[in-house]
Amino acid sequence: MAKAKRPIVRIDEEKCTGCGLCVSPCAEGAIEIRDGKARVIKEELCDGAGFCIGTCPEGALTVEEREAEEFSEEAVHKHTQSNPRNYIPQKCFRCGRNEDELPIMPCRSAGESLWVCTRCLPALIHG
Ligand code: SF4
Ligand SMILES: [Zn+2]
Repeated sequence: MAKAKRPIVRIDEEKCTGCGLCVSPCAEGAIEIRDGKARVIKEELCDGAGFCIGTCPEGALTVEEREAEEFSEEAVHKHTQSNPRNYIPQKCFRCGRNEDELPIMPCRSAGESLWVCTRCLPALIHG
């Protein structure tokens, strides 16, 4: 697999407590907890989009630009299809519908990382 300089998630081991909150928000299933720390298990699974960053209560996640294996949609497809544990649809915190039913987006509220669906978002905005 070819390498290229590109954005990829960096996990600060000193800060990571291994809580696992960043694992299921990664749609690519790129993060696992191994030996008590979060790890990007394969570079080709991480697209560097950084959706995981806001989920970490410790500030252990950042996106860095470095030489890494290129992101592969094909590898992600194989990985997420190979084990249901690698793709966990996220649910809207208000109505409970999941991302396979409606688009959902990340939001933060009072220190919590949450997901909200497009139906519930207007109610959050307008009260
Ligand atoms: S959310 Fe942060 S502290 Fe928790 S496992 Fe992921 S990187 Fe580690
Ligand atoms: Zn909803």
